[in-house]
Amino acid sequence: MSDSGAEQQYIREAFTTNWVAPLGPNVDGFEKALEGFVGNDKRVAALSSCTAAIHLALLLLGVGKDDEVLCQTFSFCASTNPVIYCGATPVFVDSEQDSWNMDPVLLEQAIRDRIAKTGRKPKAIIVVDLYGMPANWEALIAIGVKYNIPIIEDAANALGSYYEKKPCGTFGNIRTLSFNGNKIITTSGGGALVCDDLETKKSAIFLATQAREPRPYYQHEAIGFNYRMSNICAGIGRGQMTVLGDYVKCHKHIHDLYMLLLSEVEGITVHDNPSIKFDSNFWLTTITLHPTLHIKGQALIVDDNEPNPNVEALRVYLDQAGIEARPLWKPMHKQPVYKNAPAYVNGVSESLFKVGMCLPSGPCVTDEDVKYIVQTIKDAIEG
Ligand SMILES: *Cc1c(COP(=O)(O)O)cnc(C)c1O
Repeated sequence: MSDSGAEQQYIREAFTTNWVAPLGPNVDGFEKALEGFVGNDKRVAALSSCTAAIHLALLLLGVGKDDEVLCQTFSFCASTNPVIYCGATPVFVDSEQDSWNMDPVLLEQAIRDRIAKTGRKPKAIIVVDLYGMPANWEALIAIGVKYNIPIIEDAANALGSYYEKKPCGTFGNIRTLSFNGNKIITTSGGGALVCDDLETKKSAIFLATQAREPRPYYQHEAIGFNYRMSNICAGIGRGQMTVLGDYVKCHKHIHDLYMLLLSEVEGITVHDNPSIKFDSNFWLTTITLHPTLHIKGQALIVDDNEPNPNVEALRVYLDQAGIEARPLWKPMHKQPVYKNAPAYVNGVSESLFKVGMCLPSGPCVTDEDVKYIVQTIKDAIEG
């Protein structure tokens, strides 16, 4: 990570005031800073991770055993695993081609089919703003409202992104953020739940602090969790909030530079905002490779469960030049651990997994780095 300098000051303060234990002024300060940033009268609870935040969101929506939850299949496992923690069943929904996030048409089909098959409505929907790209919120929210099913926005990647000028982290009925080491800002590890009101925030904090009843002794009437953010981590978060705007500018600038330099390279497409409604923070710049693009050293054999041979060949070529690039997320419905979960698919996420990759992005990447990476990609292309 890169820091603003303020992180060390807040951490030092935590030590000198003896607030090293969990909770304390940095937690309050970080929550206030996040509330100020997302606006829209939201109340934020700082937690130990985004995974924990998704778990609590599901519990607050009453998700339990025998419930079904519709999940975006094109995502990291942490978007879905908490459904299992609740004893519920994930039902996967594929993505639309433009935003790469949940396809509203398929979502509605899935809802109707689940009602027909099980006689019950799915209990919740988890939508992701993947790689920082906002989901198609207008259409998705309309479906949530039509069927009266609450939506959880997994905005782990999307702090500083906007859809129709409204910040990500404010869509749906409840939302989650991540401050893991690799995210847009970090607290070394952490997350948050973005709630509509103070009541919900208080319920979340109650569950996140072992469901301790307000008595002088330890009294428990529910099962809670140890999910609260510590005062030290929150100190890092407060410092990071002072540079969030600069970081987002940096991510966008790097994306623009990749777009410019790769525009003349045939067979490579940089993923971009699908329309003026979308304003991604471009947490990661992602590209897709045309299947016929030939990369030096490319294998001939195609394994159906792996990225295309040209994607793997480019990854290896870049790696040898000291550049770390990664394939896109493998869809959850293709993961062995979820092979029995129902899935409503249209081929989009499977195809993206085969042709896509993430390029180095973020405030540590310089213009010179981007030029070197693009030059290396050009060198890797055969002919
Ligand atoms: C990183 C990530 C998470 C999990 O965040 P943690 O804070 O590491 O638990 C959830 N969803 C998505 C899309 C992520 O990228």
